[in-house]
Amino acid sequence: MALSALSAGNALWGTMEEVDTTVTGGRIDFTVRSLLNKLTIVQNQVGYVQFNILSFDELLKTAARCKKPLTRDEIAFIESIFYGDPRKYGFFGERTVPQLTVVTPKKDVVYVDKTGHFLMKGAATEKYAQIKRLIGPDLVLTSGVRLPVKQLLLFVKKMANSGGDLRLASNSIAPPGFTFHSVGDFDIGKVGLGQYNFTEKFQETDVFKKLYDGGYIAIRYTANNLFGVRYEPWHIKVTGGFETA
Ligand SMILES: [Zn+2]
Repeated sequence: MALSALSAGNALWGTMEEVDTTVTGGRIDFTVRSLLNKLTIVQNQVGYVQFNILSFDELLKTAARCKKPLTRDEIAFIESIFYGDPRKYGFFGERTVPQLTVVTPKKDVVYVDKTGHFLMKGAATEKYAQIKRLIGPDLVLTSGVRLPVKQLLLFVKKMANSGGDLRLASNSIAPPGFTFHSVGDFDIGKVGLGQYNFTEKFQETDVFKKLYDGGYIAIRYTANNLFGVRYEPWHIKVTGGFETA
């Protein structure tokens, strides 16, 4: 028992060493690029909406069906990111999902019409309804439930755009396994603001001011937070975790 736990730990450490080479550029670069390509193919196959709640096992099956099976290197890379310690590259957020293979049953989520996103049934849908009542038609849900596979795509995309720099990537996107989007948090914006909803411009909108002044929201990542995550005024905290606001 103790022996198997030890060897599992060693295996994990081995793959963590590989991830570190990404920072300086190495053979992982190829893995990252190839993985990004395969994840994009699977997203196109299952559709943008369903991809948000796709499980890891479904990813493997769909990739194989598309004749783009994940390689051992790609799976080892995913596991090293998911199960590794992100403090090594400056991300101090807490783990939200213990298992890469987590499945969220469809009955536990609600699709929010015309948004392309789901919310977790319960606290998240209640919070969203409360905010929707306050703001009205100007409010849009810009991101909801994201299981590890979707978070992996966002993270790998950000890595590719950051020259493989994990520190840079994790400053704006939590690694898979470490996002509260997997357990209830969601992002909101103002209708018509598009991608600017994910910039500090959102803070200047009447939508943000109404919410903030009303004390309706608790922001997960406040300015100069201790978690190594940029300030995200559009991210609504729903459940658990450190109290940051
Ligand atoms: Zn968010």
